[in-house]
Amino acid sequence: MGVTDPATDTAIESGRQEEAIRVTDLHKSFGKLEVLKGVSLTAQKGDVVAIIGGSGSGKSTFLRCINFLETPSAGQIVVNGEEIKMRRDGSPVDRRQIERIRTRLGMVFQAFNLWTHRTLLENVIEVPVYVLKVPRAEAIKRARVLLDRVGLGDKADTFPAFLSGGQQQRAAIARALAVDPSVMLFDEPTSALDPELVGEVLTVIRDLAAEGRTMLLVTHEMKFAREVATHVVYLFEGRIEEQGPPEELFGNPQSARLQQFLQTVG
Ligand code: ADP
Ligand code: MG
Repeated sequence: MGVTDPATDTAIESGRQEEAIRVTDLHKSFGKLEVLKGVSLTAQKGDVVAIIGGSGSGKSTFLRCINFLETPSAGQIVVNGEEIKMRRDGSPVDRRQIERIRTRLGMVFQAFNLWTHRTLLENVIEVPVYVLKVPRAEAIKRARVLLDRVGLGDKADTFPAFLSGGQQQRAAIARALAVDPSVMLFDEPTSALDPELVGEVLTVIRDLAAEGRTMLLVTHEMKFAREVATHVVYLFEGRIEEQGPPEELFGNPQSARLQQFLQTVG
């Protein structure tokens, strides 16, 4: 488990102590709408933090603020020991730092977001080659290994439109892995899939969790969260309403809101 007590900033469980990401008192408003009202969360290396909560509770905004797809209004974000330099209003001081840190955060979205005019192989090598300046031949070699890993070794030269949603999402995971990210951010990676395609994507994520990949996983798949998460965070209206190990959070929820939420999601 890797969440800290924000009051003392001490790890509640000390064991593994290599911090992958620390978010402190994150706030985000869109105009007058305050969406995140002070969210703090730390993941140690190897942690799988599942983030659950109702629609509109701020789950996507939280992930998007972490890699500055949205500019936080206030707070602190530290990735792999490096603090993202922000002004008082949350805006980044150094765009280049953001670009660099983004490559440490492999993000997988609900809607695949592959480049449609590029083959899977080209999708996977894009950031390594053009941003990280990895030699092309080396990037291709690694991309083939990753595509193989997600079961798409024979689809390297195929364009996304010819693939099922499940295959596209697995390719998106391979692309996120291509930079060997410190933390993977998953935003409801299976919610846009037909039910019969969910399993193949969860299998890939399960394997990543088993090999000790650090991840923050927004999901509405409660059974899966219970199975893979080392820690679960329940967001309600932009605040952490309850958090804990999966057995406790799902097995013995304390807050009435969480109890109700778990009933509605089955
Ligand atoms: P979740 O992912 O938990 O469903 P979101 O983070 O997407 O929730 O959204 C939280 C709230 O923020 C919602 O009320 C949503 O309408 C609002 N919101 C999200 N993005 C924007 C935006 N770019 N501009 C204005 N409001 C937004
Ligand atoms: Mg969302």
